[in-house]
Amino acid sequence: MILIVDDKQENLISLKKVLVKNGFEVDTASSGEMALRKVLKKSYVLIILDVQMPGMDGFEVAQAISGYSKAKETAIIFLSAASIENKFITQGYSSGGLDYITKPVEMNILLLKVKTFYRIYEQSRKLNEMQKALLQEIEIRKRAESKKDEFISIASHELKTPLTSIKGYLQVLERNVNIGNTDTMKYHVQKVHKQVEKLNELVADLLDISRIESGEMKFKMASFCAGDMIENVVEVVRQGNPSFNFIVNCHIEEAIEGDEMRLEQVLMNFLTNAVKYAPDSKKIVVTALLENGHAYFSVRDFGMGISNEHIESVFKKFYRVEETSLRFQGLGIGLYISRQIIERHGGKIGVKSKQNEGSEFFFTIPIHNKE
Ligand code: ADP
Repeated sequence: MILIVDDKQENLISLKKVLVKNGFEVDTASSGEMALRKVLKKSYVLIILDVQMPGMDGFEVAQAISGYSKAKETAIIFLSAASIENKFITQGYSSGGLDYITKPVEMNILLLKVKTFYRIYEQSRKLNEMQKALLQEIEIRKRAESKKDEFISIASHELKTPLTSIKGYLQVLERNVNIGNTDTMKYHVQKVHKQVEKLNELVADLLDISRIESGEMKFKMASFCAGDMIENVVEVVRQGNPSFNFIVNCHIEEAIEGDEMRLEQVLMNFLTNAVKYAPDSKKIVVTALLENGHAYFSVRDFGMGISNEHIESVFKKFYRVEETSLRFQGLGIGLYISRQIIERHGGKIGVKSKQNEGSEFFFTIPIHNKE
């Protein structure tokens, strides 16, 4: 927006007419004082300022607004009867650009100058925007970098724990080999198997993360039976956690389409989390049903739940609820991977939860999937 300041009404009208005709938005003020009041309220790209005015003259106005934060980027074109001496140009105003035109105003020259100031204004606005975006990007990258560092240190720790156990069991095994104690040997071999399985899962998750990152996560879509998939997953988790009561309500009879192994992985993640984050409650309910052409799967636990402030974030990469992260081992990537898998199926993933009352993690996928 341009502000024209002139005490002569006819000048205001003729200048405004030309500028509006050339597509500029224009505001007017008939005195220096009025101009100051307007500049306080609004930001202008350019002020066309008559020098000779009764009351406050143009230079005084320029000097006064040079202190306003709203006028930081504003340029001024003085309209003066005589050519302006340098001292006026350099004296009062150092904010935006500065120029002058002698009266009578040569409209073509004024238009040329106005256009130039607008171009400079646009360029500097774009530069400012770019700078802001760049600073934001730097901040985001810094945060991601520090998350990654944190992740590497947690991941190393998570990998080290089963490795240390394996080392310990192998030492015990070695001693038992020497004395030929096969029963104890069998027991420790099983223990080693369990830890190797843990390592395997951790490495598989890490590989998934790098596949997601490089866009190379592949899916094999096929028809499968939802009931069988749920039974398989629940059976594995039940074996490892015999004290839990798993209640399965599967209402899906027909075959559905998707990558069964990947969907199993999501359900497995929900179930192992339910066991992990609800250690004192013993009931877990798995539900599967059809609604609006989608298959809906959910795992409900009655554990610690998630507070509102964290609920939006649990599907983010590396995110772990801080208050509980020291009590429970984990990398904060299971739900992130699950989200990618479900989204690639064209489905939705989510959670309903109340602190101290438990959580219900769910996902839906279209029954007929064309990946
Ligand atoms: P991990 O369990 O390895 O930390 P996830 O990505 O599976 O990683 O889960 C992310 C976070 O979400 C967990 O750290 C935990 O804070 C929270 N969370 C996941 N499942 C549950 C649950 N059933 N109950 C409460 N909090 C949960």
